[in-house]
Amino acid sequence: MATYKIGVLYGDGIGPEITKATVDVLTAASKLAGTTKFEFVELPMGWDGIEKYNDPMPQSTKDALKETHGWIMGPHDSASYPKELKEKRNPSGELRTYFDLYANVRPAKTMEGIRSVVGDADLVIYRENTEGYYCDRNMYVGVGEWKVTPDIVISAGVFTRKAIERIAHAAFKAALQRRKKVTIVHKANVIQLGSGLFLDVCREVGQQYPDVEVDDYHIDAMAAHLVRRANDFDVIVTENMFGDILSDLTGELVGSLGLAPSINSSDNQAMAQAAHGSAPDIAGKNIANPTGIILSAVMFLEWLASQHNDPKVSEIARNIENGLFLAISEGVKTKDLGGTASTTEFTEGIIERLKR
Ligand code: ATP
Ligand code: MG
Repeated sequence: MATYKIGVLYGDGIGPEITKATVDVLTAASKLAGTTKFEFVELPMGWDGIEKYNDPMPQSTKDALKETHGWIMGPHDSASYPKELKEKRNPSGELRTYFDLYANVRPAKTMEGIRSVVGDADLVIYRENTEGYYCDRNMYVGVGEWKVTPDIVISAGVFTRKAIERIAHAAFKAALQRRKKVTIVHKANVIQLGSGLFLDVCREVGQQYPDVEVDDYHIDAMAAHLVRRANDFDVIVTENMFGDILSDLTGELVGSLGLAPSINSSDNQAMAQAAHGSAPDIAGKNIANPTGIILSAVMFLEWLASQHNDPKVSEIARNIENGLFLAISEGVKTKDLGGTASTTEFTEGIIERLKR
């Protein structure tokens, strides 16, 4: 039986509850399939890491993750960490940099039973995850931001052909498996050199994918177009900050940011991560909605399936996704969706609907 080692980082706030729900669903689905075994490796992160190693992202966790096929990352509540630890990169930022997880992939798809403000939509954002205006200041010394005088600050963005090429290839490859359309989002009319390079390199890469239709929009116009006609878009490729902002918009347009999944990936590693935060206000109450992180795990399984050329893993992913959609459309909903199901009841609802 094919066995995959999956790291599990529970994190803070609602992290332990929703991450456990995900592990339970994956375990049930793999048992039913009988073809695949998931071996979960639990590792400290967030407050658990601080308590054990005085570090929200301990080196021992990073070392252990290297030995996995990828991992599921719960949310973290970095704002609550002690001051000296808060100044470090937050746990997910640290992993994105350490493992060079350069593609942040965020789909937005309408679901039956969830109110959408844009009608139907099925798009995915490929957000460059390593540079732009969120570049790593340790990597580009003096480039990120600096104070010229106490009252004047310069914040700069970094754009490199290498990073743009790899996110563009990821986006065009994804489009080939979808509706074969890529939209490049930029602001080349104002940020002429930085956004200009982003646009030019994406267009150049696009020439290697003649079957894929390409267009491009300025970020501001794109925000308006998404609200008006989200369903016209398939794959969107954009730089770090624009992708961060647009994906919150698209997450909310198709229902709720609380349902939005994502994976962060490199050529050989991937991390599943819900788009929402640690929701400390509802932690420990068994009412959090685990949909975002479960759908992130589904994306991760699809990635794993393609990485290892293993269609059985893809079948498990489809089964989980169908079970989840079925549960919601049949009214098994957590409080945030207007229902009464607890986190554990919702999770059971999905497991009951998995196909044998
Ligand atoms: P962060 O800085 O960690 O991103 P945030 O300020 O963006 O945090 P979230 O933790 O995402 O905030 O929470 C925003 C609101 O959405 C809170 O009221 C929270 O309770 C709610 N919320 C977030 N995630 C969920 C979830 N999975 N289920 C139910 N409610 C949620
Ligand atoms: Mg947030």
